[in-house]
Amino acid sequence: MSRTPPSRPPRVGLVSLGCPKALVDSERILTRLRAEGYELVGSYEEADLVLVNTCGFLDSAREESLAAIREAMEANGRVVVTGCLGAEAERIRARFPDVLAITGPHQYEAVVAAVHRALPPAHDPRFDLVPPQGLRLTPRHYAYLKIAEGCDRRCSFCIIPRLRGPQRSRPAAHVLHEAERLVRAGVRELLVVAQDTAAYGTDLRHAESRYRGRPVRAHILDLARELGRFDVWVRLHYVYPYPHVDRLVELMAEGLVLPYLDVPFQHASPRILRLMRRPARAERTLERIRAWRRAVPDLVLRSTFIVGFPGEREEDFALLLEWLREAELDRVGCFVYEPVEGAAANRLPEPVPPEVAEERRQRLMALQAEISARRLARRIGQEVAVLVDAVTAEGAVGRTYGDAPEIDGRVYLRNAPALAPGDLVWARVERADAHDLYARYVEHQQPVAAGEAASAASASSACTSAAGRSSGIM
Ligand code: SF4
Repeated sequence: MSRTPPSRPPRVGLVSLGCPKALVDSERILTRLRAEGYELVGSYEEADLVLVNTCGFLDSAREESLAAIREAMEANGRVVVTGCLGAEAERIRARFPDVLAITGPHQYEAVVAAVHRALPPAHDPRFDLVPPQGLRLTPRHYAYLKIAEGCDRRCSFCIIPRLRGPQRSRPAAHVLHEAERLVRAGVRELLVVAQDTAAYGTDLRHAESRYRGRPVRAHILDLARELGRFDVWVRLHYVYPYPHVDRLVELMAEGLVLPYLDVPFQHASPRILRLMRRPARAERTLERIRAWRRAVPDLVLRSTFIVGFPGEREEDFALLLEWLREAELDRVGCFVYEPVEGAAANRLPEPVPPEVAEERRQRLMALQAEISARRLARRIGQEVAVLVDAVTAEGAVGRTYGDAPEIDGRVYLRNAPALAPGDLVWARVERADAHDLYARYVEHQQPVAAGEAASAASASSACTSAAGRSSGIM
């Protein structure tokens, strides 16, 4: 059973794979375990037990998850598996019959119970210490804020709804209380995530809950407006282009949330979008992008695309390239279609040979590199707000409002005196390439006291100062 010496708390190691949503799950599990007196350690050797939070979205992610389980089994031998791949327990058991327990995605209670069985908690109040904002795996100055689990859509290439179930939104007050705790703890950027962020609250019929004495609807517009009052950067990810997204753009124009939209368009050919079971019509999308940019000229748009989808012909791909030339998106990720086991799209005729799909991906990314470079070059000479992520020997590395952590570009700062991660500074852009900006530090922005920000009732916003200064907008 347990192999913890009585003199010390039980030690748990964690391997967290997958998307930001899975990272949030890991943080919740660790917060709970830490609150119960478990110690978190960073190596297999120190751990009494290793938790592997898996991803099962694409076949490549499954292989990565299986490799992580194998590594943990070989290096430690006492392993609990959770996360998306946990929904396929038999498959894991077939390969690793000695894993201690397997639980599926979002089964917090089941994961914690499995850890209790394999490694009972220490009942020592000295270890029952956990910061009120919970434990986070992201740096202290930014945090992911998960507003819903699961998905009600049925995109033909995706098995997330099967793995994670239908959408279940958190009441708005829960989300806002968590945001408040994070801001009090020093977080300066909230990254709002869900499988389909714009659909937030539909399962709750947009029910109201009370936050600080006032009712707030479980609706993305109301939630975004409330989050905007915290006076930190608020970044919206995975926004499906429903009609009411146009009204989110109005909140950006007001400076309440960052003028940054991560909209997964996936393709531009109406025929392929139909096969993908995505309702968006490409021509209409271009019109909407133009309208968004008219309302918020500095809007940064990120999207992802799939090439080599079954049935994608050269003319569909040409249409996608043409659409991208017109749309001039700022940031783009492109993936080759992977026939994920269980996805409806696998039954479609006309599969695209892998080498053709890969060649299309490269052509798309080459075009996008030109577009991104052109868009970033407009920033040269401007003064931009930069949130510092790390300090280096040469200066510091940070991001503008146009860059989400991990997935977008960076700003490399030189002449950066006495900076610390989480500082918000002004910098003048000297150079740009297809991904990154190179800038010179100018001065610090006036910090907002975390406590003040958390209880801020005014709608004055850090997002406004993120986006603008007289000498230039970014
Ligand atoms: S919106 Fe589509 S791609 Fe995204 S999780 Fe739901 S089904 Fe999957």
